[in-house]
Amino acid sequence: MKIDILTIFPDMFKGPMTCSLMNRAIQNKILDINYIDIRSFTKDKHKKVDDRPFGGGPGMLMQVEPIYLSLKSVGVRKKNCLYKNPYKKPYVIYMSPQGNLLNTKKVKTLSKYEHLVLLCGHYEGVDERVLNWVDEEISIGDYVLTGGEIPAMVLIDSVARMLPGVVQDKSSVEQDSFYDGMLDYPQYTRPAKFKNFKVPEVLLSGNHLEIEKWRKQQSYERTKNRRPDLLKLKK
Ligand code: SAM
Repeated sequence: MKIDILTIFPDMFKGPMTCSLMNRAIQNKILDINYIDIRSFTKDKHKKVDDRPFGGGPGMLMQVEPIYLSLKSVGVRKKNCLYKNPYKKPYVIYMSPQGNLLNTKKVKTLSKYEHLVLLCGHYEGVDERVLNWVDEEISIGDYVLTGGEIPAMVLIDSVARMLPGVVQDKSSVEQDSFYDGMLDYPQYTRPAKFKNFKVPEVLLSGNHLEIEKWRKQQSYERTKNRRPDLLKLKK
C-alpha cells in the first residue's frame, strides 16, 4: 500500500515509522510511505503556508494553494473522478476532528485501498475549499489536537495491522478487540502463580475445547460490562 502524507512537519513521523512493526512493513515493502512537505509548494519566500481567516477571528488557516499543489504532485485528480476499481484511486483523507470516527470497520475498509493520501492540518485547520479534493474527513476522537500528524500516525498504524504480512500471525489480529465486534478475553503468561494471584485453572488444563468456551464467555462478559454498546451493534 502506498501512503502519501501531506504535512508541514514531516520530521514528526521519524520515530513511529522507524520502529517496530511499521519499520518492518516499510522494509518489507508492504508499506511505501512518502512525506510531502506542503511548505515546498508555497510561492511565499518565507515558506509561509497560513494566513488570517476572512471575516476575522482567532488563529491562522492553512491556505488552499500549497495544499492543492501538494495533492496534484501525488496524482490526485478531481474528487469524483471515476475509476473502474474504486480501491485503485488515490483516496484522499483530511485528518479532521469534524470527520467520520475512525473505528475497526473504517480501518478494514481503508486497508483495501492501494493508495491513501493523508492531509494533516494545523493551526485552525485548512481553507474549506481544500475539501473539493478530499474524499473523506476522518477523526480519531472527539477532542482536538494541535495537528493532523498524530491522527495520521494512528490511522496508518491501525490500517497497516490489517495488511497481510505486517502482523505475522493473522489470527492474532482477528482475535483482537473490535475485530468481530467484541472485546478481547483476558490473557496470562508465566509464572502460573505470582504472589497470591493465580492464572485461571482452565488455561492450565490443556483442554482446548474448555479453554475456547472460557475465552468466548470472558470476551462476552467483558464486552457486556465495559462496552454494552458494541453488543447492541452486533445484533
Ligand atoms: N478548528 C478546528 C476545529 O475546531 O474543527 C480544529 C483545528 S486543529 C487545532 C488543527 C488540525 O489538527 C486539524 O486541521 C486536523 O488536521 C488536526 N486534528 C485535530 N484534532 C483531530 C482529531 N480529533 N482527529 C483528526 N485530526 C485532528
